[in-house]
Amino acid sequence: MNNEYLLLTPGPLSTSDSVKEAMLKDWCTWDDDYNVDIVQAIRSELCSLATKSTEYTATLMQGSGTSSVESAIGTFIPNGGKLLVINNGAYGARIVEIAQYLGITYSELGFAETELPEGHKVEAALLSDPTITHVAMVHCETTTGILNPAKEIAELVHKHNKVMILDAMSSFGGIPFDINEWHIDVLISSANKCIQGVPGFGFVIAKKSLMHTAKGNARSLSLDLYAQWQTMEQHHGKWRFTSPTHVVRAFAQALTELKQEGGISARFQRYQKNQSLLVIGMQELGFKTLLPTTLQSPIITSFYSPSSPDYDFKRFYNQLKSLGYVIYPGKVSNADCFRIGNIGEVTPQDITQLLEAIAQAKYW
Ligand SMILES: *Cc1c(COP(=O)(O)O)cnc(C)c1O
Repeated sequence: MNNEYLLLTPGPLSTSDSVKEAMLKDWCTWDDDYNVDIVQAIRSELCSLATKSTEYTATLMQGSGTSSVESAIGTFIPNGGKLLVINNGAYGARIVEIAQYLGITYSELGFAETELPEGHKVEAALLSDPTITHVAMVHCETTTGILNPAKEIAELVHKHNKVMILDAMSSFGGIPFDINEWHIDVLISSANKCIQGVPGFGFVIAKKSLMHTAKGNARSLSLDLYAQWQTMEQHHGKWRFTSPTHVVRAFAQALTELKQEGGISARFQRYQKNQSLLVIGMQELGFKTLLPTTLQSPIITSFYSPSSPDYDFKRFYNQLKSLGYVIYPGKVSNADCFRIGNIGEVTPQDITQLLEAIAQAKYW
């Protein structure tokens, strides 16, 4: 490890030394040494990770994950379309904000942050408003760590002939599922979450038939997903504007390492092991989780802040950091929490050592 501390955060996260080493060179996008095939290989590998179906295509987009969400929302929903946003956390709320910025007609179906979106309410919303054309939801709401029922909701959306857009930012690559089997038309994720690359671009995996209908919809030049897709398709993986070359090399290495680990199901098992070890150990230390186990994802866990008047997050955080672990502040609106992520280059042994550090850092 080149780092003084391990990031237990939902991305950017701890990456392997070999992923970081892939960036130790400056690359010219037009030179053969960069390997022009690299983008095409990444696009096709992403599709294989997402589904067995050959009806999908992957497009990479510069920026953080939100740029990819914004490019998908802004490119797939045509003028006159209407988006239903299912919202139970900060990232669902961000999709609402994107629709507002882009002037896209939308309605919002809100749930509490610690509550799963309910199928019957989604269905009622679809039935009561036939002008809805698209539905967007977050898979793992990183706000709390809740795992939303993407399969159930997407099935309903499909039944009503609407387009399903899933923000799978913090779950794709860490939780196995087939987007075609689940009826997900558009999936969005980014380089620096469960694939364990570094930040710099996101990607959208969408039905080819849908991509073909998206020409001219975009509300932004640089976030025109259709134009980016066309350029990548027609010019052998070329990005429209400067590509994040170092990040792309690191991502290719991260994909190789995902394969070496045994693919998504092996990674899922490691994350699950990390998460259950963490919760058991934290409970022994007197901490309580925000969510019941049944709602919890293997990605990130929210813990209630200790009720002791002596507890101060910043002090606890700094103490843990000096012991080699960086945790994450809470983001829940109506509960005082902190979060611990277990995605990235993090092993069950790291979690065991983290728990020892927490026992030591617990000063109250
Ligand atoms: C990380 C994340 C995003 C994107 O956030 P950025 O800060 O733009 O990278 C979007 N949705 C979810 C659920 C996330 O976890």
